[in-house]
Amino acid sequence: MPSSTTASDGLSHRRGSTTTTLLPTGDDMEPKVLAVKEGHHIRLLTWDNLPAWQRDNTFILTGYRRASSSYRASLASLTYLHNETVNIWSHLLGALFFLLVGAAGAYAAVFLEHEIAPRYATASLADVLVFACFFAGAVACLGMSATYHALSNHSRAVARWGNKLDYAGIVVLIVGSYVPALYYGFWCHPELMTMYQSTITLLGFGCGMTAWLERFRTPPWRPLRAAMFVGLGLSGIVPVLHGLKLYGREALERRMSLSWVVGHGALYVTGAFIYAVRWPERSFPRRFDIWGSSHQIFHFFVVAAAATHFVGMGKAFDYHHGGMAAEC
Ligand SMILES: [Zn+2]
Repeated sequence: MPSSTTASDGLSHRRGSTTTTLLPTGDDMEPKVLAVKEGHHIRLLTWDNLPAWQRDNTFILTGYRRASSSYRASLASLTYLHNETVNIWSHLLGALFFLLVGAAGAYAAVFLEHEIAPRYATASLADVLVFACFFAGAVACLGMSATYHALSNHSRAVARWGNKLDYAGIVVLIVGSYVPALYYGFWCHPELMTMYQSTITLLGFGCGMTAWLERFRTPPWRPLRAAMFVGLGLSGIVPVLHGLKLYGREALERRMSLSWVVGHGALYVTGAFIYAVRWPERSFPRRFDIWGSSHQIFHFFVVAAAATHFVGMGKAFDYHHGGMAAEC
């Protein structure tokens, strides 16, 4: 492997005891040396050098990892900078966060119910289960996404499989988020709660299939696929409108943290929109290849949406178990 690097190489590294990082900067696209070290050389690729199976976003021109054919080599790419670094770490850290919070919540519910707050004494197994759905959805989604992005340079077969898991994870997170929202929102109408939870689960299953079946996975179907996910997200509007009719806005705010649920939906839709239009890299070639591309922004919106939903569900839990809830 030659050690010299030109602007067309985009971004290169030397690894080992030291690292060289070259980034294209400014309009002249001259590489800028960020660090110079010695050791094993890793050269990142440009769009033009990629095999067809690694090509996805035509507006990301530099910073691609070479196909590795090795899980170990792909995982080792967590230690240096390339155009998937932010995608990997944003969801890896998000998954760890929700795993820790979920584990802490489970511990508190089981061992500390009387010490930390009397409201835990009235919590039931159903409360634990609906929160478990949310945490399982969040950890599965973010964990699978991080795994996919880490291994996406392994080989065509692994990238394909990982991409399907990535989309399936988003569906699991959306459905897992709706379960507690519908549980607390329709606390006094268990038959409606079950009906909406079943419907959303079925819709999620259908949406997952569009991610899984090959014919929907080609670029021409991208807008439809994005629309399906937005549709799944927006499908929650029906039970929310139903809840508004039954209880009114203020009561629904207390019962299911309406504003937090709406905020969580708005974050998803905004993130999905940015993902679909591939901005800002579309308008600023090369500037956002490593930091700030649309997919990375989308990742942060997903984490923010999940966090927003968690806060809302915590408030709904407090309302129903804090002795302030209205009689059914
Ligand atoms: Zn992603």
